Amino acid sequence: MDTFFLQIAQKLSEAKIENPQWETRLIFAEVLQKSPSEIFLTTSPTIAEIKKINHITEQRLRHKPLDKIFGHRGFYKYDFFISEDVLSPRPDTEILVESALEILPIISRPNILDLGCGSGCIIETLLKENPLASGCAVDISAQALSMAKKNAKALAIDKQLKFINADWFAEDFTLQIGKKFDMIVSNPPYIPSAEIETLTTEVKKYDPLEALDGGATGFESYERIAEIAPILLRNNGYILLEAGYNQARQIVDIFTTHGFNLLKIVNDLAGIERCVVLQLD
Ligand code: GLN
Repeated sequence: MDTFFLQIAQKLSEAKIENPQWETRLIFAEVLQKSPSEIFLTTSPTIAEIKKINHITEQRLRHKPLDKIFGHRGFYKYDFFISEDVLSPRPDTEILVESALEILPIISRPNILDLGCGSGCIIETLLKENPLASGCAVDISAQALSMAKKNAKALAIDKQLKFINADWFAEDFTLQIGKKFDMIVSNPPYIPSAEIETLTTEVKKYDPLEALDGGATGFESYERIAEIAPILLRNNGYILLEAGYNQARQIVDIFTTHGFNLLKIVNDLAGIERCVVLQLD
């Protein structure tokens, strides 16, 4: 077991995968159905398990991220099915979820709109944590929506959630949504187009471009969302947005010119201003 483990870690290290030992642990844990700390307690892997570990390693050596290989990823307290059709849920986005969870108890039976839901990780976590809440998950990608539906079923919150396949740049977008909400949450695409090339292979090749590319400036989706949000929110409704590196202040400027007041900017664990919380006047 130990030699085999070290061989895998060595291969990952040679392929310049960061944290090769830890990722090897995660691979073993996934295949052996154990927690990462327990993998050395088990007897040697069977031939079938060794085959699986080798197969996963081959994919990882081509820089496919582990969550995309496994087809699922933990986010907040839950596990979400994912694929190359959706952005992998990231720990940074849990900051947005936590900020929304602080606000929701002050709204009775909150109705929440997620713009660009992807896997569904944001809105579905909020609904799971608030059984009286309901919501609407919107995405331009039909494939992303079917992944979000699968996750909603698995979390047993599918009765609380509606799904709409729509493009927020469409002129009649607000009509397609057709109602007002207490809260909007969104992790829109925010990477400036010219910077996509500089992203890691893991992101550039395996996360969908339409979930990353924020147009020439990186702010195109925020600008559009700022136009439509006042129509989609009730008076005093909230909007929580994920922000890219160094974008938070400009996002605040965009939204304040559309009638929003800044409530707070929340930093992620790396100290980056990651989540902007605003309220409609
Ligand atoms: N956080 C993602 C990244 O750094 C980008 C996600 C997005 O554009 N919303 O790759």
